[in-house]
Amino acid sequence: MSKIQFNKAFTQQEPIPETAKKRVMELLDSGRLHRYNTVGSELSDAALLEQDFAHYQGRKYCLACTSGGYGLHIALRAMGLQAGGQVLTNAYTLAPVPGAIHAAGGQPVLVEIDENYHLDLADLKAKAKSSHAKILLLSLMRGHIPDMDRLMALCNELGLQVLEDCAHTMGGAWGKVKSGNFGQVAAFSLQTYKHLNTGEGGLVVTDDAEIAARLIMHSGAYMLYERHGAAPAPEVFEQVRLTSANMSGRMDNIRAAIGLAQLPNLDDNCKRWNRRYSILRNAIVAVPGLAIPARDARESFVGSSLQFRPIGLDGAQIPDFMSACAAQGVELKWFGDDNPKGFTSRYDSWHYIDPMPHLPNTLRALEKTLDLRVPLTFNDEDCHLIGAVIAQVTAEFMGR
Ligand SMILES: *Cc1c(COP(=O)(O)O)cnc(C)c1O
Repeated sequence: MSKIQFNKAFTQQEPIPETAKKRVMELLDSGRLHRYNTVGSELSDAALLEQDFAHYQGRKYCLACTSGGYGLHIALRAMGLQAGGQVLTNAYTLAPVPGAIHAAGGQPVLVEIDENYHLDLADLKAKAKSSHAKILLLSLMRGHIPDMDRLMALCNELGLQVLEDCAHTMGGAWGKVKSGNFGQVAAFSLQTYKHLNTGEGGLVVTDDAEIAARLIMHSGAYMLYERHGAAPAPEVFEQVRLTSANMSGRMDNIRAAIGLAQLPNLDDNCKRWNRRYSILRNAIVAVPGLAIPARDARESFVGSSLQFRPIGLDGAQIPDFMSACAAQGVELKWFGDDNPKGFTSRYDSWHYIDPMPHLPNTLRALEKTLDLRVPLTFNDEDCHLIGAVIAQVTAEFMGR
């Protein structure tokens, strides 16, 4: 049988909406790129993005900043993390997450995940008790949302504050509650491959006025904190404005304008991702030798990426399997690779974590996990074709 070939780029984004282009040109003409370069009571694009996202998310306060990782870093500080303090976090996450803990002067305490890529609650409980951590940085890596009712009940019982890393769950929910509305604080990323694409950027939300004021001061507000779009009252700043260090990480108006123009399409885009995800998922689960963990009906995820396992193959065959898929145009990433490539997501590659724990369940869950990006520039036919390539290559390897 002839080899099926796929030819589109897995890194191709959709064009930025026309409304953004128009606004960006206006901003360029005005020269007012800095978020505090406003006249009178006008709100900058950065402030408008804060307003609109707080409204979208249903949270009182929102800060726009330079990146998701930066948002996590200052959120940890605003939540009271002290130098040397421990922070519980998922062992399966992306490098900016332990990096944010490190930047805030903290020590990551890695918690095991289970075979569904969710935090292991028994291990969370054990590590909460054996460490001095007061904060859980819950990373919803690759958009896998665990049973948030159980998780939050356990965190309440253990007295843990929760910071949600929603880089892959913007637009997602558990039950009727949006992802990012469970913890005291949540951070989102606007990096190109996330659900809003401003190139780089971050949004942090909370309902806690004092934390919001600290976030804004840390982000580099000088004493211009009144020029924010979703901030607490000026009185709240009186308590924190001289004690929160300026760690410059402001959002600029160009990025904000690009994000603002995309926000009205976010929910629609989530549906478009899920349509593509479901075609790919159905194709992959139908192939003997491939498996995808089941997802709970209460989880409203956004299928902007898909994880599957070639359980019918030997671990040693995975590099060749990936090369064969790549030769037919299908780009996969392997979370189990000993030598991280492109992105690093296996905890034992973050050598600055000391002491480095051994987490057998996490390693087992990742050992055969392959990752497929789901760009919106792919149509239904593309997704069917990708599924057919993966099926063809798997059949060939299973026969070896
Ligand atoms: C992208 C990402 C972040 C933050 O990314 P930035 O590049 O700093 O915006 C955090 N967590 C996860 C899981 C991510 O994928």
